[in-house]
Amino acid sequence: MLGMREVVIPGVSWVVGNGQTTRFWADKWLMNTPLREDIIGPAPVGLEEARVCDLWQHGRGWLLENIVPYVAPDIRLRLTAVVVDNITGVRDRLSWGESLDGKFTVKSAYSSLMKDSTPRSNLSRMYDRVWKVIAPERVKIFLWLGVHQVIMTNMERQRRHLSETGICQVCKGGDETIIHILRDCPAMYGIWTRIIPRRKRGTFFTQTLLEWVYDNLGDSGEVDGCPWSTLYAIAVWWGWKWRCGNVFGVNGKCRDRVKFVRDQAGEVIQAHLVEGNSGKSRGRIERMVSWVKPAEGWVKLNTDGASKGNPGLASAGGILRKLDGSWIGGFAVNIGICSAPLAELWGVYYGLYIAWERKITRLELEVDSELVVGFLTTGISDSHPLSFLVRLCYGFISRDWIVRISHVYREANRLADGLANYAFSLPLGFHAFDVCPEIVYSVLVEDKNGAAYPRSIRL
Ligand SMILES: [Zn+2]
Repeated sequence: MLGMREVVIPGVSWVVGNGQTTRFWADKWLMNTPLREDIIGPAPVGLEEARVCDLWQHGRGWLLENIVPYVAPDIRLRLTAVVVDNITGVRDRLSWGESLDGKFTVKSAYSSLMKDSTPRSNLSRMYDRVWKVIAPERVKIFLWLGVHQVIMTNMERQRRHLSETGICQVCKGGDETIIHILRDCPAMYGIWTRIIPRRKRGTFFTQTLLEWVYDNLGDSGEVDGCPWSTLYAIAVWWGWKWRCGNVFGVNGKCRDRVKFVRDQAGEVIQAHLVEGNSGKSRGRIERMVSWVKPAEGWVKLNTDGASKGNPGLASAGGILRKLDGSWIGGFAVNIGICSAPLAELWGVYYGLYIAWERKITRLELEVDSELVVGFLTTGISDSHPLSFLVRLCYGFISRDWIVRISHVYREANRLADGLANYAFSLPLGFHAFDVCPEIVYSVLVEDKNGAAYPRSIRL
């Protein structure tokens, strides 16, 4: 096939950790149940004892001859989306810290985070509320990260030994947890007491984080003509923004923050009403969107992930292009089975990998998933199931080069999308292309010529 060569990247790292404490067959780590429960035929030797690292070889990957005879094809596909990290020295369990029986499981770590309050069964309703609130997309994404408890705090930094103290640096009066930042810190407390409706005063400051978010996003009452859920979401968002400004010392002069939050919420609702009352035509505008060439001195990387189901068969792709829009290098990965955000992150990871290998010093990275841009720019805690890959991406981003990350619409990311879809037809694994594969060549030419596609954009 034109320009294709297969590459095995040694030690590309899934950070369950180094696999030394997780038992391959006996622990729950890949699936919701231990793999031994899904064994077909006679059991493998060393069933209880074999560790994840015992079935992985650095530079080669999974020792499939010791795995494949015992598992169904879909488990094999899931394994290919996962790699063992023997580079960064991350241990399996320590980063999770919560497992009572001393055995690492993704599920236990995740549910321990959620023990905070709301039963797991309510989480999907929680997500519904997060995505339904009338608020800008970035606010919803922040709330989503908040309820996943993946926002970086001092307590989190201390736990990771990145900081000596978990105390809030703004008030010095309490542990800097997520609920402290968003609600209890005096910096926010004073604002909340001035805007919460009287009927909420009894519960507002006593709820746990998840109860608090769930309850307030689901509140259909109004405050001065504005839905409380919107005012609440906007206040949470600005509380966080101010906090970041405060902590990093870039906040300007103090203004009337209560008025500011109210005005912001009012504008959001106004825009929403305009859109709602006048059908599709007003409040939305059709824009022509095209791929944009990189700035002088920069190389552009576009990446994308694709999945058929979530989780489901998944792939990723990406390209590096120079100033005139011509091809520098590209890739496609047939991942196996994983979730949609994981596929996106694999795209980013391999894209950074090929860019670094080509000694690029200034890179503009464009991704069409706002969620993934959020992960890469807002941060994610170790406890999140996707943290291993976000951390690997950070590992690249923090090297000695400049990487700018931005979100683009799908219409500007067609070539990466095409490569990701192409990957489904390729063998499992990573495929690098020195020249553009024929199947997506027309998209390359169109992008180069500035071809634009209409997109309905919310004002
Ligand atoms: Zn504080």
